[in-house]
Amino acid sequence: MSGGARQRPREPLAVLREVWGYPAFRGLQAQVIEHVLAGGDGLVLMPTGGGKSLCYQVPALCLAGPTLVVSPLIALMQDQVLALRQLGVAAAALNSTLPPAEQRRIERSLLDGSLRLLYVAPERLVQPGFLELVARARPALFAIDEAHCVSQWGHDFRPDYLEVARLHARFPEVPRLALTATADRPTREDILDRLELRAGRLFLASFDRPNIRYRVEPKHEPRRRLLALLREEHAGQAAIVYRSTRAAVDQTAARLAEAGIRALPYHAGLPAEERARNQERFLREDGIVMVATIAFGMGIDKPDVRLVAHLDLPRSLESYYQETGRAGRDGLPATAWMAYGLDDVARLKALVAADDGREERRRWIDRQKLDALLGYCETTRCRREVLLGYFDETLAAPCGNCDTCLEPVAGYDGTVVAQKLLSAVYRTGQRFGAGHVIDVLRGEDQERMARLGHDRLSVFGIGRELDPAGWRSVVRQLVALDLLSVDVAGHGGLSLGPAARPVLRGERRVELRRDPALRPARGTRPGAARPALDLPTEALGRFEALRRWRLEEARRQGVPPYVIFHDATLAAIAASPPSGEAELARIPGLGASKLARYGAAILAVLGEPPGAPGTGRAAAGGWA
Ligand code: ADP
Ligand code: ZN
Repeated sequence: MSGGARQRPREPLAVLREVWGYPAFRGLQAQVIEHVLAGGDGLVLMPTGGGKSLCYQVPALCLAGPTLVVSPLIALMQDQVLALRQLGVAAAALNSTLPPAEQRRIERSLLDGSLRLLYVAPERLVQPGFLELVARARPALFAIDEAHCVSQWGHDFRPDYLEVARLHARFPEVPRLALTATADRPTREDILDRLELRAGRLFLASFDRPNIRYRVEPKHEPRRRLLALLREEHAGQAAIVYRSTRAAVDQTAARLAEAGIRALPYHAGLPAEERARNQERFLREDGIVMVATIAFGMGIDKPDVRLVAHLDLPRSLESYYQETGRAGRDGLPATAWMAYGLDDVARLKALVAADDGREERRRWIDRQKLDALLGYCETTRCRREVLLGYFDETLAAPCGNCDTCLEPVAGYDGTVVAQKLLSAVYRTGQRFGAGHVIDVLRGEDQERMARLGHDRLSVFGIGRELDPAGWRSVVRQLVALDLLSVDVAGHGGLSLGPAARPVLRGERRVELRRDPALRPARGTRPGAARPALDLPTEALGRFEALRRWRLEEARRQGVPPYVIFHDATLAAIAASPPSGEAELARIPGLGASKLARYGAAILAVLGEPPGAPGTGRAAAGGWA
């Protein structure tokens, strides 16, 4: 179709610079936008933080008619609308929580051409009269955000997303852009079919998140490790800590709070008001640590989460990618840290092996998924290579920004060690836990061994080459490799696993990793909030002052701080403080509207002598 005829005389790059204050498009953005402005349909697959929203928001400002955006969650829509309004863009969200008068006002602004973007939930599309309203508004573009919600394969299937097809049936001439961060092929194919987008163009970005540093370590005093991470590397920064059960969430949140961390719990067992309040605080205050089950995260697009920690293994690499992806949406450095141990491995192995009526195919898939996850944990290769490889993407070289790249991990031929351990498990009768088997190998606890007759076994004392921690690492790896099984329902007794025989017979080699020694957690004094960027001390003071000003401004307006400015923008201002409005305008992220609204206030904050209070009194404390 000839979308060109309805195009406003506005050039995308000029819009990007004027409205957003960004100097250039990123990645595939320019191509997507050009395609949409030429009237084409498309599906955009970009990772979280990849810059999907601009792919339809910039065209929305270049086209003559309004853009209709379908989005699954009210919270997501509201964030987008608030952010657009900060940029001086006329945007609104229609949802059932609005008073009727407000709904009518929005409808009028849609019809009189003053509204550029209208966000709606999919159920709105089936309401009587809504499509008539859309017809009268003569839309120029349909954007379908979180398009994986249309797929049954995705994790967030929303049956009412299927109603999106009505839009195309009714308005075949209006171009459609679907967007998602869900990468896997079945979901992608499903979206193309269900939204009838086969004739459109597919924009597939790399799913790498280069700013996230992946770190995985064997569980050893995990709570202390986490505390050290929060105090020493991510003090005062927003973080999410994932746990697998509600009880574990409550416990970890309480422990962190006792240790002086501003931690809040979130899980489906909490009263709805408490959950909503905790989420609100996470979004609106700086530096809250959310301890949560996987019930938390969908629809949270807070850009400045600096750490995502897993204290229990996630369910699969897909979940891991998705959950860790909530870190560093703003592109600044962020950490994904995970601790895993024998307990986690044994628990997941037992879940997958359980005979709970799943079909054979489902069980096979579950086993594959668990093996991929454990393979990621136990690898000696670059984590990112393994992670992206799982999504069929190849890295040109090891990433240099994961634990195994930064501190290479040795692999070794563990065949003999494995044989010793398997023999010890076998000869002690396949019922003792790891602690006892390790004592047998190391020839410890003579008295007890004599009582059991284990001091007379041929395996007694044949494993003094490894210390107990070294042996525990081997046990964990052999469980991961199905050479050993753990009786999780009982007392954790070890028995030979399905793959043990060939190893015992010397027919199969076993490759193991030598877990690096963990550096002891250092001092435990809470530090000051740090920006993710390396800023010199002097700039740090300015950054903090700007952050205090932003928090107060956000409270005054009742919006989350990040819709006013992202950390990256404040850090850029702090790094080279501009002396006047003209210099300020050159900072990325300061478009015309924000410059007019906040320029003077920012310059005033910068002009204050260091150490002076911010522009208001409440600046120093949080608002907890
Ligand atoms: P997604 O929806 O894909 O998760 P967003 O659209 O929220 O990602 O963008 C992620 C971040 O990157 C936002 O802070 C956004 O302002 C920023 N961003 C997007 N495009 C650009 C660009 N061309 N230049 C600078 N920053 C950008
Ligand atoms: Zn790496």
